[in-house]
Amino acid sequence: MLAFLLVGLPTFGTHATDSPQADVQALVSFGSRVPETPASTQARNYLLAEYRQAGYITEVGRFTYPKFEDKGSTLTIDGVIVEGHALNRSPAGQLSAPLVVVPSVGRSQDFAAVDVKGAIAIVRRGEIRFGEKARNAASAGAVGLVIVNTNSDPLYGVVDGNTNIPVLGLSGQQGESLLQNARTEPPVANLNVNVRQKTVTGYNIIAHLPDVKQPNVLLGAHYDSVPKSPGANDNASGTAVVLELARRLANKPVAHQAWFVAFDGEEDGLQGSKAFVKTAEPKFLSYLQAMLNFDMVGVNDQLFVGGTESLIALVQKTNPKLSKIRDTGASDHESFARAGVPVLFFYRGEEPNYHLPTDTVVDPKLLQATVEAAQSLVQYHLLTTNY
Ligand SMILES: [Zn+2]
Repeated sequence: MLAFLLVGLPTFGTHATDSPQADVQALVSFGSRVPETPASTQARNYLLAEYRQAGYITEVGRFTYPKFEDKGSTLTIDGVIVEGHALNRSPAGQLSAPLVVVPSVGRSQDFAAVDVKGAIAIVRRGEIRFGEKARNAASAGAVGLVIVNTNSDPLYGVVDGNTNIPVLGLSGQQGESLLQNARTEPPVANLNVNVRQKTVTGYNIIAHLPDVKQPNVLLGAHYDSVPKSPGANDNASGTAVVLELARRLANKPVAHQAWFVAFDGEEDGLQGSKAFVKTAEPKFLSYLQAMLNFDMVGVNDQLFVGGTESLIALVQKTNPKLSKIRDTGASDHESFARAGVPVLFFYRGEEPNYHLPTDTVVDPKLLQATVEAAQSLVQYHLLTTNY
């Protein structure tokens, strides 16, 4: 009987069970959704199928961006290999040279105090920008630069501006003894900054009803994740919330005023939303009353909102339990805010599994609560009050 009833029903098959929790589980099951990986493709196909299933037409917005990749950079000294991190935008380089301790932080007067010609200079972090340290080192004749963190954390950073010498970052733990150990005869070290610049292709997923060319509201969330993390909370949670809102609104009049977008490449610097904004017509953007962005909404009881004051006030009117955060700007709404679009950011705050392989679980109740907060805003306050 059951089997007979199910025959021909289009909602069954490989398709999930239409809940944000099931969507999160499906997305997590593919693995970490780094752009250009099979998991990313699987996630894209899943989302496209789910949006179509919910009655929407879909578009895929393809874009490319440059990505800096550290393939394992090291400093070898006295036979010991120290694994550091190439600073972002550093040129690649592999060289053997004396390692010379430069006093202080690598200002030009610091370099005047020592001879670094043909040497690898090593300096402490602080006071001036990484790029300035690198340019001072290069002007003084150094062929490579090592920067040591002021605490025991690894040093990640960006060389701002141009540098023509390779730059490696070390943690304080790794580098402090090297800084302390200024020898009269500097030891020869091997610096290997093993980096490359590649072009990555990303795909935004856009869903809307067939007649909606110009939405009033855009609901978005990034579906990519960082390497090695299945990204349940960051950000299968937001992706699933936007998809669930699309399902719930599909037969409501407001669906004729909305677009739903799953952004790619967020973790590489908001790449998907930047590409979306860049290719959108100015008229399209100026017509948007609100861009709602959802990032990390499946862990932590408190739901925060940030962004444009008028939208925060509006959502707090519908849901007084929402707290306002000072906007960190670290997610896709920022790309729209920069283009003058009013934005509202939904976020539940930092959590211990952030960007780790252990980001595997979200709380279904929190997904539902986020959906409900956004749904009442969109359905009863945002669109209807102004039209
Ligand atoms: Zn995120």
